[in-house]
Amino acid sequence: MPSQSSIPWFDDFVGVAYRYYDLRMNVVPLFADRKQSVSLWHNTIHWWVDPSIKIRFLEIDDKYWFILGSDSQKPETNLSFFKELSKSENYERFKNGHEGEAYLRLGVYTKKILDDVKKDALCDCGHEAQDHDEGDNDLCLYNKCNCKKFSSFQINLLKKKKTITDIKFLEENDVKNDPLVWNCLNINRYSKFKEN
Ligand SMILES: [Zn+2]
Ligand SMILES: [Zn+2]
Repeated sequence: MPSQSSIPWFDDFVGVAYRYYDLRMNVVPLFADRKQSVSLWHNTIHWWVDPSIKIRFLEIDDKYWFILGSDSQKPETNLSFFKELSKSENYERFKNGHEGEAYLRLGVYTKKILDDVKKDALCDCGHEAQDHDEGDNDLCLYNKCNCKKFSSFQINLLKKKKTITDIKFLEENDVKNDPLVWNCLNINRYSKFKEN
């Protein structure tokens, strides 16, 4: 098996969702393209050895690095995943509620516009579609809301899943003690700073 440092890093996904599904928290890397998510599962994640899957959350102020990696039965197509994201309510809910175990699933993220949704669909501003004025650029008419355009999204989870039992939340001081995180930051963060 190649050493951790030779596994390529992958960040070509749109974000991560945290959802209750099948009675357990699910960690869901999101893809805009269904085909891409299916082939990534098929080529890479399918071959992961469940007990070796590691997920790390490196918290830096109001952001965090999502870092995911594993040993693979097919090392030549293995990848490690990372993404710098903003902390969210769902992230905090996962942090407080995961109890040491989660399912890993991939998801397909679809943006929705006003024409796509039912009247009671929620906009990102928190108000329903029917509060948005179809005639005037989707403006939200709810009291003093300053939402200018209805926007929402839908997430479809792929069925296949892996179980993650190695979950850690870290701060920058801990980075050197965690080989996966250390490798990720060296390649994807510190090296970029040096180039500038
Ligand atoms: Zn809105
Ligand atoms: Zn609104």
